[in-house]
Amino acid sequence: MELYKNQSLQIYNTLSGEKSTFTPIHDGNIGMYVCGPTVYSNVHLGNVRTFMSFDVIFRYLLHLGYKVRYVRNITDAGHLTDDGDVDNDRFVKQSRLEKLEPMEIVQKYSVDFHKVLDTFNFLPPTIEPTATGHILEQIELTQKLIDTGFAYESNGSVYFDVFAYNEKGLNYGELSNRNIDELFANTRDLDGQSEKKNPQDFALWKKASPAHIMRWNSPWGEGFPGWHLECTAMSTKYLGETFDIHGGGMDLKFPHHECEVAQGKACNGHSPVNYWMHTNMLTMNGLRMSKSTGNYILPMELVTGENNFFEKPFEPNIVRFCFLQAHYRSVLDISNDAMVASEKGYNRLMESYKLLPMLKASNTSSLDIASWKQSCYNAMNDDFNTPILIAQLFEGARYINLVNDGTATLTTDDIKLLETTLSNFLFDVLGMNNTASGGTSNTTEKLKGVVELLIEMRKQARANRDFALSDQIRDQLLTLGIQLKDGKEGTTFSV
Ligand code: AMP
Ligand code: ZN
Repeated sequence: MELYKNQSLQIYNTLSGEKSTFTPIHDGNIGMYVCGPTVYSNVHLGNVRTFMSFDVIFRYLLHLGYKVRYVRNITDAGHLTDDGDVDNDRFVKQSRLEKLEPMEIVQKYSVDFHKVLDTFNFLPPTIEPTATGHILEQIELTQKLIDTGFAYESNGSVYFDVFAYNEKGLNYGELSNRNIDELFANTRDLDGQSEKKNPQDFALWKKASPAHIMRWNSPWGEGFPGWHLECTAMSTKYLGETFDIHGGGMDLKFPHHECEVAQGKACNGHSPVNYWMHTNMLTMNGLRMSKSTGNYILPMELVTGENNFFEKPFEPNIVRFCFLQAHYRSVLDISNDAMVASEKGYNRLMESYKLLPMLKASNTSSLDIASWKQSCYNAMNDDFNTPILIAQLFEGARYINLVNDGTATLTTDDIKLLETTLSNFLFDVLGMNNTASGGTSNTTEKLKGVVELLIEMRKQARANRDFALSDQIRDQLLTLGIQLKDGKEGTTFSV
């Protein structure tokens, strides 16, 4: 029987402002949409944190036995730095800066994004659609919104009419708890807003200026789609008019997700999403990590150690462990101390884990492994509480140590249960990479260990007067660029 039938999963829903029992629309199946990256530059560690939170949520839902359709898009067009100014198209700006075609920018940073995800052991989403691959769907939705009186064309652009929406009693601002009159008072007067009826109307379609190279034909002339509409188009296409979970960082709550709610309700007459999930921010020096302020670090800089912020490189596993020691709805401030503490903690956990095959079984158990196992589920069932889960995993490690030193006893079955529960949660759910060494050694150190092992084997070969083997080791290492030097103190090597 599927695990989810025995577990009661609670999810905090931004829309209701409370945790409630999660029930999917179709029993056993879940549709989840997460806003993907805007691929005009490298993803920073803050972006990685948000995507990692959803990676773990995806992993846990799969672990529970749900069939999950997980859609995470790639925003490769239409994301303006502000809604009113077409010159602020991120892709067009970046392509000028790097002297590349906008689609070269998209390719370059999509490749980087996927490389980062591989490095940090992410599961791929089940569908990864792009905005540019769904221009037709966006044009169709725009036309539908015009036809139903929720949108209007102005000077080749099409805007969503927020006031018309509210007049129909549909409550713009319900997700982010904003009052439309306050919004009206606080909106700046930006270039291009004169074509809008109201400042908070947002673009569904933007007319392309002659210099704007990313452009498509539409019933309103050449232009490009609005950012908010792409997510509505892709989520509706792959998950339906109403689906289970929609996620993203909490900075996307307004306006992006608020606009998605409005578009969905205007198009279909009902709310597009049952559970809205928002992740909290990664900060550095107490400030939100962000490209625009320069307060950021790239994931690979943390892994290679090429940065001025951390004292040493950290393995991807340690970054993952550090991130998951905070709940996804809490702020996490990344620091050298936090990373060092995570490394120590993870190594300690793995040292105990590695003792498991050596444990001696007894006839009786003095520890209650079944209830410990349920505590692990309870942690994740409580709105994916990874820090509590990790505390439980340390409790499991403590059990191993107690049995190892003879202070407690476990039966063969309980040792097996402890082992499967620990590996399920560590590797399948939290996504720690089982094949990585842990935190102590990086690749260079591992290679050093391998060469030292070969030096030792060569020494033994010589002691056995097997000079053919000892020469083979020396010569083959040399072809790899590793030179052995025999000296008084023994054999050393250089690369
Ligand atoms: P973007 O490519 O800017 O749309 O961002 C991709 C995702 O990363 C979005 O869900 C953002 O909310 C999220 N994000 C951006 N900055 C941070 C941060 N400092 N911490 C956590 N998530 C972030
Ligand atoms: Zn989105």
